Amino acid sequence: MKSNFTIFLLAFAVGIFAQQNPKTDDDFESVVCKEADAHKHHFHQKERSASALTSNYDLKYYRFEWYINPAQYYIDGKATVYFEVLEDGFTEINFDFSSQLAVNDVNYHGQSLSSSASGDYLLTIPLPTALPAGTLDSLTITYAGAPPSGGFGSFIQSNHANTPVLWTLSEPYGSQDWWPCKNGLTDKIDSIDVIITTPAAYRAASNGLLVSETVSGTDKVYHWKHRYPITPYLVAIAVTNYAQYTDNVLLSNGTNMPMLNYVYPENLANAQTGTAKLVQVLQFYDSLFVTYPFHEEKYGHAEFGWGGGMEHQTMSFVTNYGWGLLTHELAHQWFGDMVTCGSWEDIWLNEGFATYLEGISRERFPSQVQTQWYDWKAGKIASIVSQPGGSVMVDDTTTVNRIFSSRLSYNKGAYLLHMLRWKLGEDAFFGALRNYLVDREHDFARTSNLQAHLEATSGQDLDEYLEDWFRGQGFPSYHVTWEQSNAGDVYIKLDQTTSMPSSVDFFEMPVPILLLGNDRDTIVRLEPTQNGELFSMNITFEVTGVYVDPDLWLISSQNTVQQGELTGVGEAFADGNLLVYPNPAKDFLQVLFKNQTEANKLDWGIVNGLGQTVILGANDGFGFNISLVDLPSGLYRLLLRNERGESSVRSFVKE
Ligand SMILES: [Zn+2]
Repeated sequence: MKSNFTIFLLAFAVGIFAQQNPKTDDDFESVVCKEADAHKHHFHQKERSASALTSNYDLKYYRFEWYINPAQYYIDGKATVYFEVLEDGFTEINFDFSSQLAVNDVNYHGQSLSSSASGDYLLTIPLPTALPAGTLDSLTITYAGAPPSGGFGSFIQSNHANTPVLWTLSEPYGSQDWWPCKNGLTDKIDSIDVIITTPAAYRAASNGLLVSETVSGTDKVYHWKHRYPITPYLVAIAVTNYAQYTDNVLLSNGTNMPMLNYVYPENLANAQTGTAKLVQVLQFYDSLFVTYPFHEEKYGHAEFGWGGGMEHQTMSFVTNYGWGLLTHELAHQWFGDMVTCGSWEDIWLNEGFATYLEGISRERFPSQVQTQWYDWKAGKIASIVSQPGGSVMVDDTTTVNRIFSSRLSYNKGAYLLHMLRWKLGEDAFFGALRNYLVDREHDFARTSNLQAHLEATSGQDLDEYLEDWFRGQGFPSYHVTWEQSNAGDVYIKLDQTTSMPSSVDFFEMPVPILLLGNDRDTIVRLEPTQNGELFSMNITFEVTGVYVDPDLWLISSQNTVQQGELTGVGEAFADGNLLVYPNPAKDFLQVLFKNQTEANKLDWGIVNGLGQTVILGANDGFGFNISLVDLPSGLYRLLLRNERGESSVRSFVKE
């Protein structure tokens, strides 16, 4: 850990204060709440994803042509679909599509086809001849009606300042309410055109680049073109009397890209203040991760009436211009939009990341934010530990409150990332995220994809970590007992209890401990592998206080620290008494206790750099012949445990 001491102590002083009175983020909770509200509607409406009948073709392209008058709760238009057939004998094509919308025509190579609706959300179109696998084909579906959505949901008509506004918000299962689609997380559409005709008083916002804005009688036609793969739930439109302005963003690849903002005229000044601040954050994410994913087009915002935000691809819909909301939705362009969770079980790959990136934007730009990074972390921990259980992995994807749980998917998901940054180090952590983004570019990802990249850059095996923290429930409370001998040796006995022992009885995490002196201090990193482990270290100053995790790297709660008598039980493993040599070692590793009065019966193990135990054994005493096993060269840890249950960990290099 590279720690700047001044900053650290300052943070620590602030932290003590903040922990007593943790603040929550200014607008984050409203984001979560409203995102959840939006999704709840769809779940009550229909607790399923795409029909299996849509899996036999691959979506290539859509051209949407809609007439929208925001004063009317109505959609009228057509969708032209290009698709590639995946199976021989393709005799009909199926879409997820609401039966409440009237299909007026299906045009297939100039010929009208019939169609039939079954159930609430299945549209079936028989084809005149069976198509072989590999066929690229297309058809146009003309339809109209009032989509099945009430005052909230996927298709919403509302007002602002006495002006009508209409917007869509389809995550997770709402696309099928207003256009014929594959309503799931299996198939990104390669590219789309969105052509919206609306009365000339209004502007229409959508994905991609606005290629033309033309007058047609008393109407205007807005043509948006998007040439990146897009998940169906991220296709969106919003129409009202938008004021428009552009911020310019110079990206790391040299592109000067527009950030295009469609805002309610009455909120223009407020919007301009907020989005101007976001330019530096876009540049920060762009340089920290990979180039902004849609850099050949744009980023932007369209204001809507929801109490939060939605990360529609290249154009987030937002209800305010606060730092928390804008940085969260922007982060989704990388995590959620370019790389989309492949299952709602893995929603933390969208929401945990977006939440964490909002956090690190506070870390990076302290002068720009009210809620500082330390207070933000304290607030997240307070939320996570407010209940003893719950896993980041969504164990019930039919329950919207479970998927979009702010405590688990957003906050604990974000903290899983923060803990990985601590456990793996800055370079391995951020390097893995860049590799993950490149690997899964414009595709879907599961947690296992992220794990593979984190393991590759760090060399650490993360099975146990994900078992405890992703699938497992709860969190630890650390209990430190410490003592300093007259010689300066500090002994720390580290115990932990867990909030859900039936799920996880021990969390293997490196634990930072601050040893505070009168004029000096230091942080030691303890790597416990079992409960009650005893650590010893030589400290050159008098320790006056000990604190667990002063920088808030970890999820933990109700930690305790007490001074106690450990010298007697710990001295066998004290630095001055236990010698492990030679280091590097070739054939034989000598273990010597200087004050040895009796034979040392030791259980011992050797752990490699991946955290795997490669040798386990018992020994009467003074060394191990490591040439007996085929140890590759490298850094190892030697774990020792004596008959009294005291343990110690030493590192050595095998030549
Ligand atoms: Zn989000």
